[in-house]
Amino acid sequence: MALHDSLTMMRLPVDSSSHYAVDIDVRTAGEVYDPAFEAVIEQMLVRLGEDPDREGLKRTPLRVAKALDFLTSGYTTSMDQVINNALFQSESEDMVIVKDIEFYSLCEHHMLPFFGKVHVAYVPKDKIIGLSKIARVVDVFARRLQVQERLTNQIADAMMEILEPGGVAVVAEASHFCMMMRGVQKQNSSTITSAMRGSFRDDARTRGEFMALVRP
Ligand code: ZN
Repeated sequence: MALHDSLTMMRLPVDSSSHYAVDIDVRTAGEVYDPAFEAVIEQMLVRLGEDPDREGLKRTPLRVAKALDFLTSGYTTSMDQVINNALFQSESEDMVIVKDIEFYSLCEHHMLPFFGKVHVAYVPKDKIIGLSKIARVVDVFARRLQVQERLTNQIADAMMEILEPGGVAVVAEASHFCMMMRGVQKQNSSTITSAMRGSFRDDARTRGEFMALVRP
């Protein structure tokens, strides 16, 4: 089950329909997913003082294995596959901004989620890209073990490589469960990172225009 789904479900009132949703990905009879991975997760449950054979946990190793594989699927997603030839000839050099792209990632220090929004802008030279593809580029790098700074830079560098534009700007604003649930336990803090390339780095006016447009 995707983290996104589990977060969405946590907000729902507990009723029979949400239980049904939780049980959608139960192991069908004889299903084999990844026994070695599931064994590691089972050991982790034991280490935590749990009984992996109790009813509620029987299929947990399978679910966790699938969830973690999905949440780290960015390692095995190729950029060509994501772009899928959705590049077009540009007719102007006006800034393109996609705001509020939601993302969910895992911090590499604690393997706990961090999530938030990213704003991506570029100034085209010859090429433009289908707007939905920008969100998919974000997912490729978010679905890995990450630190927010690297995530932000990787998105900017990928956009530069794919589009060879005049410049790229990426701003990410995220909340980190490792800060909210443990450590300093600051529930309302958010972390903002930015990566500026080309004209966004060299030209204060271009950068200022972008910042004014993405300011909440
Ligand atoms: Zn962390």
